[in-house]
Amino acid sequence: MHVVVCIKAVPGSTEVKMDPETHTIVRDGREAVINPFDASALELALELADARRAAGEDCSVTVVSMGIPATERILRDACARGATDALLLSDRAFAGADTLATCHALACGIRALPAADLILCGKMAVDGDTAQIGPELAGAFDLPCVTDVSELVGTGDESIVVRCGSDEGPVAVEAPLPCVLTVAKEAAQLRMPSIAGVRAAEDAPVAVRGAEDVGADPARIGLSGSPTQVVHCFVPDRSGAVRLFDGSAEEQAAALAGIIEEVRS
Ligand code: FAD
Repeated sequence: MHVVVCIKAVPGSTEVKMDPETHTIVRDGREAVINPFDASALELALELADARRAAGEDCSVTVVSMGIPATERILRDACARGATDALLLSDRAFAGADTLATCHALACGIRALPAADLILCGKMAVDGDTAQIGPELAGAFDLPCVTDVSELVGTGDESIVVRCGSDEGPVAVEAPLPCVLTVAKEAAQLRMPSIAGVRAAEDAPVAVRGAEDVGADPARIGLSGSPTQVVHCFVPDRSGAVRLFDGSAEEQAAALAGIIEEVRS
């Protein structure tokens, strides 16, 4: 079995800087950490691999990320915790990608790997927050997708059973393999790296590939290949001022409506 886990490097601090020219997050890699939801996805993959190997089967876990060169540190850390190998998609041509362009790059990278039986993503990234990449990847590969997975109940050769969120509360779902899962934070807590793992990770196979290497379509990657563009972003003005209204409920509601109109105009 081959499990691919998509890992995004996200800012490790709440002090995120925006580039005033490009309206994108300034990423220098020094403060970056693994997206917490991806840490849970990685642990699910590692537990699945442990169970398969205990049953005498082969199971490899490849971690994949699109990011700046410094993202290699996070992929090596994933290898120290048990991932078999890693692929870093890093190229100036990928910069400024929206979610569709990110999905195209990741899909090209995953296609360049041995066929995946299972693709795991985090439920969402804590910086971009769209929760779009997992379902988009499922669309790109024409695979079923189960979102908000909180537990891996069991796997067979042909299918996987998971518990996931739904409008009616948690439900158990069986999905045929291959499929895409997006994983909730509570699904698992990522194990610590062992000393042997840290040593081995120094030599772990982390392949770094550019857009051409993975056959990405230049018209579908980076800022120019992104159908959405950020035209403006700003830090909202926060004030702690409190205004109390007097009068009847109608008078108070009218005064409040006036303030909302003022803010909107
Ligand atoms: P979600 O969809 O919330 O993430 C879900 C899961 O998908 C993650 O848990 C993870 O498993 C996987 N995933 C997401 N991103 C990656 C990744 N890169 N590698 C591996 N797995 C991943 N971001 C920049 O860094 N620089 C930019 O210049 C930039 N420009 C942008 C311009 C526009 C117009 C827009 C709309 C967005 C831009 N972004 C940029 C943000 C970028 O689109 C998102 O970082 C990216 O598409 C992932 O979306 P998300 O963070 O909402 O992930």
